[in-house]
Amino acid sequence: MKLIFFGPPGAGKGTQAKRVSKEFDIPHISTGDLLREAVKDETELGKKVKEILEKGNLVSDEIVNELVEEKVKKIDKFILDGYPRTIPQAEFLDEVLKSIDKELDGIVFIDVEEEEIVERITSRRVCPKCGRVYNTITLKPEVSGICDDDGTKLIQRDDDKETVVRDRFQVYLKSTSPLIEYYKKNNKIFTVDGSQDIEDVTKELFNILRGVSDDNNKNR
Ligand code: AMP
Repeated sequence: MKLIFFGPPGAGKGTQAKRVSKEFDIPHISTGDLLREAVKDETELGKKVKEILEKGNLVSDEIVNELVEEKVKKIDKFILDGYPRTIPQAEFLDEVLKSIDKELDGIVFIDVEEEEIVERITSRRVCPKCGRVYNTITLKPEVSGICDDDGTKLIQRDDDKETVVRDRFQVYLKSTSPLIEYYKKNNKIFTVDGSQDIEDVTKELFNILRGVSDDNNKNR
């Protein structure tokens, strides 16, 4: 399956994409993770994008397009999480897929409103060592502030602070939400209510994607 996970920042895309990736054995490509890794490793790319990420702005289309093109061309199934985020990125992805004779199987839109997003993101914590994501309200670690997997002290990402979250939501409304109309034209969009309990969102997604996978097998 070739899928896009799409929605406002903090809708739970990353968490759900990781679960789907494991359940269906599909590689998970998160441009946010790739960019954060570059910042952490202090690569040339990392130095270029560090400040942009801290402010919650979008990195240029050229940079993320290049990151994704390289990955997408190497594999025949994927979940793209956090990409595309602009119409030009979506157009670029269409071109890349066309050039290798591939098509998207579905766009998963995880929908959540702004106030809930703000509460959620500001309570998000991550493990700086393994990247596991927690939430101080909905997805607590066993010991407060400590990663269950490796005992590392959890941190709050700079771009998860409230002012940045509100800015990121505005960026989402302006640049990313037009993708809904873009994809409605010729692709299968599956809208999931992301304000539900996290386990219920996962269940709904697994059901939807089992349907997509069955359809794919039938059409083979
Ligand atoms: P995320 O983890 O998906 O919320 O991404 C974190 C940050 O990485 C965003 O706030 C952007 O600064 C940058 N980023 C990730 N994906 C993209 C993209 N497709 N286009 C532009 N910037 C991106």
